This record gives sequence, structure tokens and C-alpha cells, in this order.
Amino acid sequence: MTETTLQSARGELRSLAVEIFDTLRQSTAARRGVSRESFGAGENAAFEILVDVARRFGLETATDRAANLLISLPGQTGKTPYTACGSHMDSVPEGGNFDGAAGVVAGLLGLVRARLEHAEPKRPVRVIALRGEESAWYGKSCVGSSALFGRLRKADLASVHRDGTGTLGEAMKRNGAAVDAIEAGTPLVDPADIAGYIELHIEQGPILVADSLPTAVVTSIRGNLRHRRIRCIGEAGHSGAVPRGLRNDPVMATAALIHALDNHWQDWLDKGHDIVVTTGIVETDGRAHSVSRIAGEVDFSFEVRSEDTATLEGFYELMRSECDRIAAERRVMFNFDRRVDAEPAVMDRRWVDRLLQHARALSLPERTILSGAGHDAVLFASAGIPSAMIFIRNHNGSHNPNEAMDIDDFLKGADLLYRALMDPP
Ligand SMILES: [Zn+2]
Repeated sequence: MTETTLQSARGELRSLAVEIFDTLRQSTAARRGVSRESFGAGENAAFEILVDVARRFGLETATDRAANLLISLPGQTGKTPYTACGSHMDSVPEGGNFDGAAGVVAGLLGLVRARLEHAEPKRPVRVIALRGEESAWYGKSCVGSSALFGRLRKADLASVHRDGTGTLGEAMKRNGAAVDAIEAGTPLVDPADIAGYIELHIEQGPILVADSLPTAVVTSIRGNLRHRRIRCIGEAGHSGAVPRGLRNDPVMATAALIHALDNHWQDWLDKGHDIVVTTGIVETDGRAHSVSRIAGEVDFSFEVRSEDTATLEGFYELMRSECDRIAAERRVMFNFDRRVDAEPAVMDRRWVDRLLQHARALSLPERTILSGAGHDAVLFASAGIPSAMIFIRNHNGSHNPNEAMDIDDFLKGADLLYRALMDPP
């Protein structure tokens, strides 16, 4: 290609990226930010936008048995082994435009660029728009990728929508997923067919912004253990009439628990563990609670994240033993819903090295980083597929409408992804 045609191809890719992100934002706009429900209207609208662009550039599209969208170069659908490249298209309710979408759009852009530049990747590439990564809708994360590897359980499919409307299994079926095979735990792909998996994603923490870096290469991903709902049950009473010693106050008990866990967290950090602990939901029953009433029960969530499985399990046991202690001391009861696990994952050394090599060639930072958030890449890695991730600088975190990725940073990351897809390890 001549320098001028190369320049115009670059310009075309840039305007295409802007166009796709704008269309996605408009088509899935919510009261604030965007809402792309897993296996729902928003996710489907996003898939349609991708299919339109893919067709416009002569790319092939298909759907797999988990209802994920697949995009390939002409003649490459079904060719193995391939490099898989993707991320998710769903968002949390009133979330941001780039969490997930950036990775799929970067992959799609890579295929478009290969067409424009008449370039042939060393190995076939399959871009995958994965379904249902966000746990916000059904309480289960990475649904599309879990289904691929036979990792969804009956209980996952029975998970009820956040509004109480229908189950995950029903929503998957509506979208054409092979729910019977998925429920039986049948893998829908052979991991041996996938030579590598690479996912570009916005960074969801503040590190790249703080260090003024546009991109970084991920070396490992934290796993987590969660309860969506733990119920602390005490006894309701009159705030003026019941003395302290006769109360079974679930609010004080929950506060004591959270305070104890916060102290343990600091201890574990001091001992050198990688760990973050969060209780993002704490609520008394709004229909019954009042200023002058000792609450009868409190619902709260629990989450611990770490790159190390032993740390996760160890802290989880500590949490349970603190619940036992506080229940006895304060005459309350703790009831737990089903624990949901997501294991940690280490990224493939050869892929990480190759990405760092390409980063050097592109004058991008040779910076490595840890992912605090879980990603579909974990599922690929734990199926034994060499996996890697690229992070893009992003302001204001994610899972909120204010996430902000600069298009120049995105194009740098997409450039790095393209090199890796064309020249994988
Ligand atoms: Zn994401």
C-alpha cells in the first residue's frame, strides 16, 4: 500500500470507530448513560449494529450455540485453530458506553483493517461478541463464555432477573441458545480449536489515568466470591422501649460484622495478600423501617476479590466465622443465599511477552497491570486457552454513565490488538 492509501485507511478506521460508538450510545441510551440488558433488547440492538458494520465490509457473521455473535474474515468462518478476540456487549443498567463494547469494536476494526490493507493474519481470527458478561441482570457473570465451556449450572440458568421477570435460562432460549445442551454442561467449543484468546477492555480502576499511560498489558485477573444477599435476622421493636441488653438488633450486628471485616482486610493487606472486600448493598425493609423502630432484618451483599484462590477461600471462611461469633453475641441469625464464585486467572506469558514486544514497536508503554475486575478472559484461561488482555486508559471508572475513554487511546489499543492478531505468538 502507498503512504496515502494507508493514511486514508487510518482515517476511515477512526471515523468508523467514532460512528460505531455513537450509534451504540444512541441506540441503547437510558435515563443516564446506556442500558444493554444481557440477553435483552439493549444487547440485541448492539449486536445488530455490529452485524451491519461487518456486512458493509464484506465480513462473515454467525451465531454460536450460546447465542454469541461471531465475526470472521471472508472464507475463515469455521477454520481452526483460530485466535479468538472479543469481549461483551451488555452493560450494567445506566452504565457507560465502552465497558465491553471497546473490546468487540477493536476486534471488528481489526478485521476491517485487514480488509482495507489486504493483510492476512498468520492464523484465522474470530471476533466474538460474548453475551451476558455483567452480573447486574441475573446475578451471574460471564454467561456467554461460561456456556461455551460447559460451565453454566442448572442453578445459574434458574437465576431470576433483577426485576423478578423470568429466568436466565428463559432469556437465553428466547435468543436461540441451546439451553438443553448448556444445562447438561456440554462444552459448545473444543478448547483445542482456540489457539489463543485476546480481550481489549477499558481499565475500570484509576491507575492508567494516574500514571498518564494510554495502554497496558494485563498479567492476571482477580477472582471473587460473592453473596448477592445475606440476611441478618433479629427482632423488631420500639426504639424507646427496648433496652440495649434486650435487643436483637440486626443493624448493629451487620455494622459490627462489616467493621470486623474491614479490620481483617487491613491485616491481610499488611501480611502481603492481594485482596479487596466490599459490601455494596445494605438495606432495611423500606416498607417497614422507621426512625423509631429497631429493624427486624437487614439484607446486605458480600464480595471478596483476590488474584489468589487460597486468599479468597481463607477470607470467606473468616467472614463465616465472624458471622457465627456475632450471631451468638448479638442474638441474631445470618442466612446466606447461594455463593457465586469466579476464579482468578493468570494471563499467558508468551502472549504477554508478544504484546509487550508489539507495544515497543508501536512506541506504546511496556507497562503491565493487574485486573481488579473479572472478565470473560478468565473462562478462556481456565479452559487451558492461552489468554491475554489489553487495558485502555479510562476516566471515572466504569459501571457508571461517566466512564470516558479517549478515542486516541482506543485507537492505540486497537493498533496493538491488530498487531497481535496479525502476528500472534
Ligand atoms: Zn466489562
